[in-house]
Amino acid sequence: MNKKELFAMLPSVDEILGNSKIVSALIEYPRSLVLESVREAINTKRQLIINFNDEETNKIKIDLNEIIEDSLFILKINYSLSLKKVINGTGIVIHTNLGRSLLSDSIKEDLWITASRYSNLEYNLDEGQRGSRYTHLTNTIKRLTGAEDVLVVNNNAAAVLLVLSTMAKEKEVIVSRGELVEVGGSFRIPSIMTLSGANLVEVGATNKTHLKDYEEVITEKTAAIMKVHTSNYKILGFSESVELEELYKLSRKHNIPLIEDLGSGVFIDLSKYGLTYEPTVLDSIKKGVDVVTFSGDKMLGGPQAGIIIGKKEFIEKMKKNQLTRALRVDKLTICALESTLRMYLDEEKAIKNIPILKMLTYKIEELEKKASCLLEKIKKLNLDAKIKIEDGFSQVGGGSMPLEAIKSKIISIVPKNINVSTLEKKLRLSDSHIIARVSDNKYILDIRTIFEDEFDDIVKELGKALR
Ligand SMILES: *Cc1c(COP(=O)(O)O)cnc(C)c1O
Repeated sequence: MNKKELFAMLPSVDEILGNSKIVSALIEYPRSLVLESVREAINTKRQLIINFNDEETNKIKIDLNEIIEDSLFILKINYSLSLKKVINGTGIVIHTNLGRSLLSDSIKEDLWITASRYSNLEYNLDEGQRGSRYTHLTNTIKRLTGAEDVLVVNNNAAAVLLVLSTMAKEKEVIVSRGELVEVGGSFRIPSIMTLSGANLVEVGATNKTHLKDYEEVITEKTAAIMKVHTSNYKILGFSESVELEELYKLSRKHNIPLIEDLGSGVFIDLSKYGLTYEPTVLDSIKKGVDVVTFSGDKMLGGPQAGIIIGKKEFIEKMKKNQLTRALRVDKLTICALESTLRMYLDEEKAIKNIPILKMLTYKIEELEKKASCLLEKIKKLNLDAKIKIEDGFSQVGGGSMPLEAIKSKIISIVPKNINVSTLEKKLRLSDSHIIARVSDNKYILDIRTIFEDEFDDIVKELGKALR
């Protein structure tokens, strides 16, 4: 058949729309999308004919059913959400690219009620009149930290911006050169400082800053002393920084507020569970810091948010700053945050119910058991590959505890008939979107970040990819 004849055989859109499968699809999917997908399927065929040499056109078949199946396949892809669930086999617990922290299953009912029904978001039930969305977290934060007040904004970058803009606009803020942090490429302390209208006064050297370095630059223009937790790097060797206690004394001596960007909001002393000690939010408040900021979706394990806690006099001012309106959080964030924070009232429950804490504190025997369970299921497939459990290391991620390599259990797969990168790609693009590591020509799934209810999907996709 020549090209002209093939083109003539291509079905029209109307012809396909008359097919019963497409008629059913029209009930389920928007008509415009069905049309778009049918046109795409026909055009793909047309392009195929164009691309073939005249001598090869006999290899092309025009089959109506095939074009209908193609249309339905394209339709499903076109209608699927762009933001999808994936399986995290990387062992990076707070994986910023994969959505950072995960919310607990136990809060889904509260979250859905807040989402789908009216609430007292900005309504004072006692007084029967307008209230503030920022009051909902106050009691829980007070109980957990003893801080006087709290304000929640879009993320921690916004929190730092709001604090500086409110407390130090057109004035000076002293920060150690060892703490001029950059996080994730777009957040830098000096840049946020500029954006807020505050002037950064750098003191000390990269590796060493002394108390007298701070004291020497204090003038009547100084609005605050700021401590930044270097969450994503460590300066090792010949280094020294000034402890919070000393900065506190200095700040009282000169009557200057002390503020701290903690980055990750740790509420539990995780050294009890074998991790490196990270300063907690409670530590900072106890040591007298006037205003502390931290993320909601790092070690705290809540939704994306920037949490500002501390002295009422400062937080009241922040609430009146016009920026607050632009940085404000929605009701779902407030609900997820309050529900998550409430779990911390019982530390054991928090560790058990907040997914990232559970993942970070697994005992090695538990991981071994989890890995064996997955391996057993995979073995049943009799795949043409070398598959086994090995020792490995997970990471905290999210710019937290950068030096921490947590002992873990991994499942390594060396396929015999395809190469590892092909396997990686197939699984990444599969319906379950499995994200894993490839190292030493092995496909590696770290069991720590994989949920047990994802095992069957992994087994299914491995079966498809390796058969
Ligand atoms: C992560 C981090 C930030 C930014 O927090 P986001 O919630 O991602 O905006 C700011 N400061 C420090 C020290 C951090 O670790």
